[in-house]
Amino acid sequence: MAYKTTYPYTNEILHEFENATDTELEQALANGHALYKKWRDEDISERKAILHQVATLLRKDKRKYAEVMTKDMGKLLTESEGEVELCATIADYFADKAEEFLKPVPLETAAGSAYYLKQATGVLVAVEPWNFPLYQIMRVFAPNFMVGNPMILKHASICPASAAAFEDLVLEAGAPVGSFKNLFISYDQVSKAIADPRVAGVCLTGSERGGASVAAEAGKNLKKSSLELGGNDAFIILDDADWDEVKKTIPAARLYNAGQVCTSSKRFIVLADKYEEFLEIAKEAFSQAKWGDPMDPKTTLAPLSSAAAKRKVLSQIDLAVENGADVVYGNEPIDHPGYFVMPTILTNITKDNPIYNQEIFGPVASVYKVNSEEEAIALANDSSYGLGGTVFSSNPEHAAKVAAKIETGMSFINSGWASLPELPFGGIKNSGYGREMSQIGFNAFVNEHLVFTP
Ligand code: NDP
Repeated sequence: MAYKTTYPYTNEILHEFENATDTELEQALANGHALYKKWRDEDISERKAILHQVATLLRKDKRKYAEVMTKDMGKLLTESEGEVELCATIADYFADKAEEFLKPVPLETAAGSAYYLKQATGVLVAVEPWNFPLYQIMRVFAPNFMVGNPMILKHASICPASAAAFEDLVLEAGAPVGSFKNLFISYDQVSKAIADPRVAGVCLTGSERGGASVAAEAGKNLKKSSLELGGNDAFIILDDADWDEVKKTIPAARLYNAGQVCTSSKRFIVLADKYEEFLEIAKEAFSQAKWGDPMDPKTTLAPLSSAAAKRKVLSQIDLAVENGADVVYGNEPIDHPGYFVMPTILTNITKDNPIYNQEIFGPVASVYKVNSEEEAIALANDSSYGLGGTVFSSNPEHAAKVAAKIETGMSFINSGWASLPELPFGGIKNSGYGREMSQIGFNAFVNEHLVFTP
């Protein structure tokens, strides 16, 4: 069975799930489509109350949902609890904002009167990853539930319990059948769903490979798609940075969720005269990471999400070293059945090193020395990715000027990264297209329906 929970701390299989049949997929499409039609004639008050109830249940059963995620993919329980709270905040935000976001928009024209309506488009397919098992779903579910777009979820095969828990949550909150359906489907069934005329679009968060293949299916079938893919975010420290703040920021910027965050800071770019000092600070920060039982609040470094994820990160460190990089900290084996990788710092990564343009999805920092701010900006932009990035400076105007030169979808000043419902999230280049969250994300699968009277 493809869908199973293997607890990354113990390497034990905890749950296995049967794949969904084509009949179940057909039923989900039929239910979703019928609901889409019904919702078109209804106002949003009932959905608003249901989404608030989703938030209430998440807060009430925070520990339960957090444990499901930790068992699925190994993240620290404290981080899982934070994720549950963030999900509740997202649900409340879109429940409260939907009326405003759905208001018709008047248009100026001398030729008559015109406005556009914001309407639902139909059933959506959401293909989501394991790194934030509930949050990744909530980012697309909450806005689209309010828009009136029902959703079919294909979650990552390593976090099926989280996917099932999300569906139970939505139903417990009173959502009608068809509004959200988790299905343990294959890639072929995802393609089939995308091609179905009842489906209006697909959103995916995950790898470039997965994104390209799902987007190709969408393109072939003239369906809208939105992709949130990987990143190789730069963390630029300018000459006027507050080093105490830099020091405080490093651990969360790189090690949160064991480094498995698309917007983690992955490339630290430091001016030459501060380079040695930075390395000392980074080594000190990484040495404080305490690996262990993710359920124990004293643990600060979780195992990676799967044996395959661990293998991949270790092989990327080897690849970097084979091509001339130095390991200045870490990369020592951890003798435990859990999928732990020791926090590691790489230096001397040259442009011809294959790792120069690879995302490492684990607790590994690449540190680069530059001679000027211009060189720092050029290095940050010399990437096929364009998701987020950090600029550290105690001068807000200086930081803002540099941020504007970085070719990404998001810049964070004096902080590692952030995700809030009111802020758009997404990237450019190989990091994908489209935005989730905020009013921009809300509009992603809306039909802007023009009504014009000459
Ligand atoms: P994948 O892209 O393989 O998986 C993400 C989701 O897409 C999963 O549900 C997966 O299903 C599904 N999927 C993948 N290919 C297809 C396809 N052809 N048709 C339908 N569904 C598909 O990412 P991984 O989990 O393998 O992670 C690998 C890399 O992706 C990471 O190293 C990182 O670079 C990036 N990533 C980025 C994330 C982000 O937040 N932006 C999150 C996670 C990963 P299944 O699990 O069944 O394969």
